[in-house]
Amino acid sequence: MSLRALLEARCATAPDAIAVEPAGRPGEGTTWTALREQARSVAAALVRDGVAPGERVVLVARNDPSYFPILFGAGLAGAVLTPLNRRLATDELVAMIDDSGATTVLVDEDAAAALSDVLGDRRVVVLGRTYADWVGPAVDPERAVAPEDVAFQLYTSGTTGRPKGAMFANGTNLAVLTGEIAEAWGFRDGDVSLVAMPLFHMGGLAWALAGMARGARAVVVGDFVPAEVLDAIEAHGVTTAFCVPTMLAALCAVPGVDSRPLGLRQMIYSGSPIGEDALKRAMVALRCDFVQIYGLTEATGAFAQLSAQEHREGGPALASAGRPYPWTELRVVDPETGHDVPAGAIGEIRTRSVQNMVGYWRRPEETAAALTPEGWLCTGDLGRLDDAGRIHLVDRAKDRIVTGGENVYPAEVERVLAQHPDVAEVAVIGVPDERWGEAVKAVVVPAAGSTPDPAEIVAFARGRLAGFQSPKSVDVVEALPRTATGKVIKPTLREPYWRGHDRRIH
Ligand code: ATP
Repeated sequence: MSLRALLEARCATAPDAIAVEPAGRPGEGTTWTALREQARSVAAALVRDGVAPGERVVLVARNDPSYFPILFGAGLAGAVLTPLNRRLATDELVAMIDDSGATTVLVDEDAAAALSDVLGDRRVVVLGRTYADWVGPAVDPERAVAPEDVAFQLYTSGTTGRPKGAMFANGTNLAVLTGEIAEAWGFRDGDVSLVAMPLFHMGGLAWALAGMARGARAVVVGDFVPAEVLDAIEAHGVTTAFCVPTMLAALCAVPGVDSRPLGLRQMIYSGSPIGEDALKRAMVALRCDFVQIYGLTEATGAFAQLSAQEHREGGPALASAGRPYPWTELRVVDPETGHDVPAGAIGEIRTRSVQNMVGYWRRPEETAAALTPEGWLCTGDLGRLDDAGRIHLVDRAKDRIVTGGENVYPAEVERVLAQHPDVAEVAVIGVPDERWGEAVKAVVVPAAGSTPDPAEIVAFARGRLAGFQSPKSVDVVEALPRTATGKVIKPTLREPYWRGHDRRIH
């Protein structure tokens, strides 16, 4: 498999089918033949400019159909598309661009405003401006790529440390994504797929590519405006979509959502824990099959799944993240020793398969910390397996709180506090404490029109959790720091409390 092979296969099968379309503008899609022409123009420009095989080509842009000629064009030129999150601070972007070694950087108008003065002697191409003059004639440079060559590189979003460029190869990651994973995600002929997750993130890119490989039309959402996304689902006849829980909640909060003729067949969700109430609300509001997937960027997105059937049946399975895909191996280990924990005990989830990334670009130490010599990917997630082989996630290892020698998993405390009527959002962290080592703190965003009383929230928790799990203190804030995919950035939240202290990762 390669991006070239994918493009050629679609052009051979359905040359006039729409490959990609901008959300809200049905009828303005690009056919596979036109996409191939555009990709060839990009590839010709990259080769003309001396971009070497394997060189990184950076793209900083809002979600847009124009991602795809650049992605496939880089593939035809044997280069590696490295899309970055345009919402990052300028110095973070520059650090990633430096790290990637890219000499060519494509940006949209917004990113150009932020980046134009700081990219030194790199070639900067501005979409919608200098791009039209930059692209070359639509001639395929016919650069060959090997199965072990990198197809694309994604920077992890940094909720757990400094950003690292995870590399994904043609013969392993791209092949399994467009083969077995696309099959597991249930794409069907004639599907119209909603690409609402950011394309610089595995959630957006993997979803788009898997669907496109199966002939689904990709409807690309720019900024996620919930009411507009619902309009687009109707207007484009979207049949299948992928969202994170914060997006699902936002869609369900649009007035009248449950009576709209949405026509969705399935909604796949992933990325962070979803409360059972939120899930049930979404199932009622969107009236389609729900499928949960679990994984991480470094494992090509997802390696476990809770099926639509299991969602329909309900019950305790709904609290799990499903079973690992049959072509993957899974272990639950003590992260200190690397030995398997006893059946049903909590440990770190590790996975091994062709889905695992090649490694982090130019970061041998971080790669060795993430991938064991035997090829196991250390997910950093703590969880356990139930009798049916389903994964129950407990929390991220780095967020675990150790207070007076007891383990507290913030996700368990957050689940309870989220039920308090005055709480709209909550994050639980450990803060330094002389007596206990760490103390449990809850940081809450008030529900509309309410003024949470910290003492009352502590009492609420004490009535429902063990004493050591209950927060010792509660801070009320206007908003929680979140990543582009809606995850709370715990290191940012912890930072002010830990200034001047050393936080040991247990
Ligand atoms: P970084 O890895 O840099 O911190 P990130 O959090 O955006 O950034 P991802 O690879 O997108 O990186 O996130 C993967 C993590 O998301 C998993 O390790 C897990 O903690 C969480 N996650 C993924 N799927 C689920 C799910 N179905 N339920 C609960 N949590 C999930």
